[in-house]
Amino acid sequence: AYAKIVKEIVRCTNFAAIKHKDQRRKDKQKTPYVNHVIGVAHILVSEGGISDVSVIQAALLHDTVEDTDTSFYELQAEFGEDVATLVKELTDDKSLPKAERKALQIAHAQHASYRAKLVKLADKLYNLRDLRRATPEGWTEERVQEYFEWAAQVVAGLKGTNPALEEALDQLFRERGVEM
Ligand code: NDP
Ligand code: ZN
Repeated sequence: AYAKIVKEIVRCTNFAAIKHKDQRRKDKQKTPYVNHVIGVAHILVSEGGISDVSVIQAALLHDTVEDTDTSFYELQAEFGEDVATLVKELTDDKSLPKAERKALQIAHAQHASYRAKLVKLADKLYNLRDLRRATPEGWTEERVQEYFEWAAQVVAGLKGTNPALEEALDQLFRERGVEM
């Protein structure tokens, strides 16, 4: 059973790397985008203490439908119903304007499933650390600060999910003087 799980995780990582191959992060170094989804999965195992395989797979796949040509049907065929459903919970509706999507993330956070909340926490933690590490191309310091303030409102709806991840996020918000 163990060998099968290892194989599934590596297959999933490979799938994400292929899907995101032409995409880069917004930093000046143009870091490959797949570093983000692998980093989110790594936060879940190393800091969150998570070993739920579907949660790790959903972390690896969480931006494939939103940002690449991947469909939920394809995810379901490749990785099963459980993983596909989780990714669906993590996918913004791209037909909506950006501001509306950001408002919906705040409104929907508290209604997400426990497993989706875990990935959301790790995703926010990764992105906030990334912003602290390097300011994206073309972003002002004000925009970075606004992003922290928006993220704090999303994270407020994810409370009571994972103490380690929430403590790490709290610390980042305190550092920035942002109230949750
Ligand atoms: P965006 O939503 O445009 O960008 C942040 C997202 O980009 C993250 O959630 C992350 O999403 C991804 N990302 C990629 N690379 C990085 C990186 N290196 N570090 C962190 N995140 C990264 O940002 P805003 O929330 O600021 O944009 C909100 C709206 O405001 C947009 O419509 C924007 O056009 C507008 N705007 C705001 C300005 C301001 O001063 N506040 C100025 C100009 C425009 P993922 O996890 O999916 O990769
Ligand atoms: Zn993400």
